[in-house]
Parts: sequence; structure tokens; C-alpha cells
Amino acid sequence: MNVSFYDFASLHNPSLLQEIAETLKVVIQENAFVEGSYNLKLETAFCEMLKSSYCRLVGNCTDALEIALKVHDIGPGDYVAVPGISFHASAECIVNVGATPVLVDVDPKTGLMDPEQLTAVAKEYPLKAVIPVHIYGLPAPMAAINEIAKKFQFAVIEDAAQAIGTQLPSGPVGSGDNLVCFSFYPTKNLGAFGDAGAILTNNEEWAKKVSIIRNHGRSSQGLLHFGRNSRCDHIQAAVLLMKLKDFPAQNEQRKVAAHKYTQNFKSLMSEGKVEVPGEDFIQTSSWHLYPILVPNKDIKLKLHQYLKDKQVQTMLFYEQALGDLLPMQSYPGKREESRRFAERVLCLPIHPFLKDEQIQYVTEQIRIFFTQL
Ligand SMILES: *Cc1c(COP(=O)(O)O)cnc(C)c1O
Repeated sequence: MNVSFYDFASLHNPSLLQEIAETLKVVIQENAFVEGSYNLKLETAFCEMLKSSYCRLVGNCTDALEIALKVHDIGPGDYVAVPGISFHASAECIVNVGATPVLVDVDPKTGLMDPEQLTAVAKEYPLKAVIPVHIYGLPAPMAAINEIAKKFQFAVIEDAAQAIGTQLPSGPVGSGDNLVCFSFYPTKNLGAFGDAGAILTNNEEWAKKVSIIRNHGRSSQGLLHFGRNSRCDHIQAAVLLMKLKDFPAQNEQRKVAAHKYTQNFKSLMSEGKVEVPGEDFIQTSSWHLYPILVPNKDIKLKLHQYLKDKQVQTMLFYEQALGDLLPMQSYPGKREESRRFAERVLCLPIHPFLKDEQIQYVTEQIRIFFTQL
């Protein structure tokens, strides 16, 4: 049985494509190619869905993170904390504004930032901000992180690139007071037909600053400071608005798939062969990815190859801890738990169109792999 990691053919079904084609005709007839009417409609729709006051579309999530750092006036000489497990854009944005990333080690079970480790870092470095990441779509422990930030007086910028639809105890990711950055890269849970991103916040002043920075520094008072170009194409906004209609149902389907995987892994978990995210996460994660932990790196690489031979596509997200990547090696912070996590983690296929028999097949192949090991 073939189990691919993504299923774009089912996602972009003929009726959706028809609808998108009609909408793109409108975009072209309007001669509005950046920041058109669909941009405003989409910003409003995101605010409603994610219970936020302000949404500003930008070029991509990496830009969103850089703009958020600029809103907080972060630049050379400033320290910004980042977890040791993420896609490297979470640290790239810090370096790109001239600041210094400091690595915070992760919870060895989830790969999420460990608040105790953040406190330790905050005592040692005069942090200007922290960028917690809702990695794999799992909700980061925001209540604890926000509290630490308040105590030590630094900003919180959430990297929610994988977390559209993720739920925190306080509401959806994006509903709080922080600047929260989303990605609509095509492989994310809600993907454009190219690059796009967004920043959500409840803070009006910050939202205004984002609007100015993303559009070359232009403001209602004229040009006071240079900004940059990170506008969102009208075409991408139109595509995303069309795709948004199916998103809530797809989000639910991911949860159903995650629940089935978790049920199927019960015996392998009790035998200590596999660890999966706890059942508490079934309803709260966006399930952008379904990560499993195996005992060590050697077993992980063997399982990856074994599943490939059985036509099951898995991904090594992330093969290395953030702090071990070449451009990160000279930056301070702790790396041990992140390194161990990266050695052990393997991501299984999860998407809204994954069938029960496919989940059954994947978990059965993994069971067979461990009996033969
Ligand atoms: C994808 C991703 C980004 C970058 O998003 P882009 O829209 O491609 O710039 C940042 N952080 C995380 C955790 C991601 O997964």
C-alpha cells in the first residue's frame, strides 16, 4: 500500500480549482495584484476564526517573524530566546535583524520549549524577546512562557507556522496579546499557491506598526522610517480565502487520524518501543505533523528506510537540533535535550485524506519492524 506524506490531488479537487479559477478572473479584472479586496476579506476571516482583533497578511512567516522583532525594536546587541527544536527560520529571523539567538532546551517528550529552561536562560541573558514555537502543531506552554516574559520583562513572539487551528487553554493560537506569526507555505495546514504569511495580535499599536513596516514604511503621516516590502499577493489571498472554507473540517480530520495513530500505538508504547504525543494533545494540536520517538538514531534511520521500502513516506523533521546547524553553532544556550530529541524523532504521514486502512498499514509495518529488529 502506498502512503504518501502529502495528498495535493485530493486537497485541490476539481470543484475547488473551478472556484479558484473564477475568483482569479475577478482579481485580474480588478487590476489589483497586491493587497486587494480579498486581502481584507481574508484578514477579517482569520480574525473571526482565530478570535483575534487584528490580522495583517505579509509575504511569508519568516518575514512575519522579522517584522514582529522590528515592531519590538529588536536589533544588534539584543538577545532573543528560541527553542532547540524548530525549522531554522525561527532562528534565522533573529540573526537577520542583527540580534543574537540564545537556545532554550526542550521538553524531551514533545520538543516544545521547556519553561524551566527559559527561566534559566532569562537569568543568564538580558533577553529582549522569546520566540516559542508550536512545533508539529502542538501547543507550547504559553501560560508559563508569558508569565516568565512578564516577570523578566521581555516580549513574546509566537512562531505559529505549523499551528493554524492549534488550541491553547486560553483560546486558539493567535487569539492572545502577543504577535503571532503564521505561514501559508503550500505544505502547511492551510497553504497558498506560493508564499504567504500573517501576523495576528490584539494590540492595535503593534498591528499599525506591522502595516507600516510591510509596505515600505508608508504611513498615514507619510514616510517617517524605511520599512520593507512584505505585502501579500492578491492572488494568494484569494486562493487562501477559497481554501479556508474547507479548513475547519480538514482540521477535524487530522485529529481523527491522530487519534487512530495514538490508539494503534498503545501496545508498542507499553513495550517502550515508540513514544507519541500524549492523548491530551488529540483535541488541541493542529496535527501539522505526527511525530513519534523511537529509542535511538540508529533505529530511527532503519525504520525510515524500512517504511520507505514498504511505500510509506516519512520525514526526518528535524534531523538536527537547531543549535547543531552550521550557522547556529557559535550561538549560546543549552542543546542536550534538543539533540537527543532530534536523534529520535520521525514524522509519519498525516493529512485530512489519510484513510483508516493506511493508518492501519503504517502502524502494522512499524510493529513488524520492531519484531524483526
Ligand atoms: C515553515 C516554517 C517557518 C517559515 O515559514 P515561511 O512561510 O516558509 O517563511 C517558520 N517556522 C516554522 C516552525 C515553520 O515550520
